[in-house]
This record gives sequence, structure tokens and C-alpha cells, in this order.
Amino acid sequence: MLKKVLIANRGEIALRILRACKQLGIQTVAVHSTADKNLIHVRLADESVCIGPPPSNQSYLNIPAIITAAEITNATAIHPGYGFLSENADFAEQVEQSGFIFIGPTADTIRAMGDKITAIQTMQKLGITGIPGSHGAITGDERANIAMAEEIGYPVLIKATAGGGGHGMRVVRSEKELTHAIAITQAEAKAAFGNETVYMEKLLENPRHIEIQILSDGQGNAIYLGERDCSMQRRHQKVLEEAPAPGITQEEREQIGSQCVHACKELNYRGAGTFEFLYQDKQFYFIEMNTRIQVEHPITEAITNIDIVCEQLRIANGEKLSIQQKDVHITGHAIECRINAEDPNNFFPSPGEIKLFHPPGGPGVRIDTHIYTSYTVPPYYDSLIAKMITHAKTRDMAIIAMQNALDETVIDGIKTNIPLQQRILSDAQFTKGGTNIHYLEKMLADDQLS
Ligand code: ADP
Repeated sequence: MLKKVLIANRGEIALRILRACKQLGIQTVAVHSTADKNLIHVRLADESVCIGPPPSNQSYLNIPAIITAAEITNATAIHPGYGFLSENADFAEQVEQSGFIFIGPTADTIRAMGDKITAIQTMQKLGITGIPGSHGAITGDERANIAMAEEIGYPVLIKATAGGGGHGMRVVRSEKELTHAIAITQAEAKAAFGNETVYMEKLLENPRHIEIQILSDGQGNAIYLGERDCSMQRRHQKVLEEAPAPGITQEEREQIGSQCVHACKELNYRGAGTFEFLYQDKQFYFIEMNTRIQVEHPITEAITNIDIVCEQLRIANGEKLSIQQKDVHITGHAIECRINAEDPNNFFPSPGEIKLFHPPGGPGVRIDTHIYTSYTVPPYYDSLIAKMITHAKTRDMAIIAMQNALDETVIDGIKTNIPLQQRILSDAQFTKGGTNIHYLEKMLADDQLS
């Protein structure tokens, strides 16, 4: 097994990775900014290295500092978690060139999937359908763009090929907005991602976000672990996720799952990954692939009883997948609520000291978090402070378990979005299941009016 893993991340995912390492008898190195010396995983790791001041670009995004930390601690491998450097192909390349194992796919795969146009074109070749659109970069030819939008049919979406995190997209509803919208999205993409290339897609008016989790060993073996429904979004950011996706039939699951597995084998994909789709009128349309562990992986772990982070470590160790598709069984239903340190009314971040933390418990309740009583949430990073996961025999039971878990939870001293999660869980449409990606924003707007 890998001897020593450096965890190039912070917060709950760093702790999650540390736990998986301990499970497999792997030594751990925590790296942290000066703001994070009191994180639990830093205390629990075998070794820890301070890699810089609080701002991410001087610490968690500081490639030379992280590689130096791996060198001085004699680490074997580096786990990037999610966010930060997890989908940075240059980082993966430098990690491997420095003689460490990057826990994830090869730099070439990350690079190809990180460019959305390349990803869509690659998948198209492998038989995975994208959203009707340009399927390639659009040029400055105004007449050609107008003709293309006409053919796709308004409304269309202009998207940056290097976009991410819900940024770099613009809706265009009519021809008179088109040329201007393309120019602005290009300029914004250049400023935000250093790449001004944009493409055009049909705006799906009523889709759900459904994604397929895969594991692939880069040695010819790949499996899918069912799907997750992540349609509950605000500003293209996921808020609550569930697995399986309500209403998806076993036949649909097998069909899309085997297409993803086929693609992984063709790409010789190595690691855990997620194929993201928009689903509308019983059709799956590929939007992007994430080449890393995802925030919402625990709901898949709950319904499959497979530890995805341990599998990442085994794959990185050069092992062949020990699980075959026929061994993957989905049981029950799981829900994850992302708990953010933010004002539930205006969504402003709410950092500060947690005066009292009391976590929920009981059968089927899992909480992945780095917070504790007297922990201070720093203002520098993402506001996610905990993930609450419930797993039960049925969806209805998982919803009740989540309502109870949220009711039990005490987080005093800072504001959290628990009231928002409770509002969603008691919503009649959510309870029915199958709401689309626009539903949450509509619900919030309606609440404002009433
Ligand atoms: P990112 O990398 O920023 O997450 P994605 O391409 O995955 O970008 O899109 C993020 C979200 O934006 C999707 O989950 C969906 O809510 C919305 N979206 C993206 N493309 C479309 C589209 N063609 N029609 C409607 N919504 C879309």
C-alpha cells in the first residue's frame, strides 16, 4: 500500500481523506495555512507542515510550497481533494515529475476534461450525447453566430470552455442580445480563467442535474456506482443532493452507466470521476466530467456501501479494481444537505467562532465535518462547514431522518443555512421528487413575495 499520503486540502474533505488513509494503514501529512493550524485533521495527521499565509493563492494553491512539503516529509503520494488544485493539470504533472503519485487521473486526462469543448467532443466520439449546440468554439463571425443560434433555437447559453463553479455562462433570449453577450462572456472568461474561448448550447428550460459516479483503474476495468440527483441548486451551486435520482428506472441507469464505463475504458481513465448530465424528457445530455472526488460522494457511499476514497487510494497504489459491476448493489435512499456558514436570508458568509456544536446522531445519520465547539470558521475559504447525510430504506424515510438530524443539530455563534435546508425538506414539490434545476431559485423568489 502507499506509504505516506500528503493531503493537499483543508476542512471536511481533508479529514475524510485522513480517515481513509488511517483505515488502510497509510501515514498522513497535513499541509495547512497559518489560519488553519487548529483544524482537526492537522492534529490527527502523523506530520503537518505550514505552507503559507491564509489567502489560498499563497497556501492551498501554492504548488512549490506543497511539493516542497511532500519532499521534506518524504511523502509517497498527494491527494488533492476537491476544489483548490484538484483539477489543475499542471499541478498533477509537477507532482508526478517530482516523483510522487498524484491521486487522480493523468495530467493529460485532467487537461482534456478541464476544457469543456474538448470534453464534449471527446464524449461525443465515444457515443455520449452533448446538449445541442456548437460543440466547438464560436468565432467572431457575427453572421455565422446568428445563423447558429437560429438553428439551435433560442434561448441559447454562451459558455466559457474553461468555466467552472457555475461561472462563465450567459443566457441569450433573442438575436439582438447575441453579439454583445458573446463579447461580454469572452471578456469575462479571459479575466476569470485566462481563456476567452466560448461555445454555444441550447438552454434547457426544464432539466434536472443527474450525474454518474465512476471508478476506473486505468488498467482496463471500470464500474459505475449509480447516479446522484443534484438539481437543488442556487446560482448553479449544489445545495442538497440525493441518490438514487427519483424516477430514474433501472434500465435508464444501466444504459447511461454503461456508456460512462465504456468511455472510461476507452480513455483509460484512472481514478474516481463523475460524468455530469442534464436530464430532460427522458434524455441524458453530457455537460462535463469532474476528474476528482466530489463533495456529494457520501450519498453514493451510503447506497452502495463502497468507500470511494479508499478506492481512490487503492487505484493510486496501482491495484486493479476489486469490485465488479455485478457486485454493485443499490440499497435504500440517501440525502446530503450541505451546511454552510452563511446567512440563510441573504446568503452572505458568516465566519466566526462556533460557541457550541452539537452534532446529530442515530441510525443512518452521517456527518462529515471539521468543526467543533470553540472552532473559529475563517473568512478566507469556502463556507461549507459540514455535510449531513442520511440513509434509509425509502426516500420518505431518508427525508424524515434528515429533518430530525437538522432539528437535533446545534451550531451556535455563527449563522448557517440549516433553516434553508429545513424549508426545502418540508416543501411539497421536493417531497414529491424530481424537481428541476430552476426549482430552488423559484421557491426562494416565491417565498420573498409571500
Ligand atoms: P460548472 O463547471 O460551472 O459547474 P456546468 O457546465 O457543469 O458548469 O454547468 C453548471 C450548471 O449550469 C448545471 O448544473 C446547470 O444547472 C446549468 N447549466 C449548464 N448548461 C446548461 C444548459 N445548456 N441549459 C440549462 N442549464 C445549464
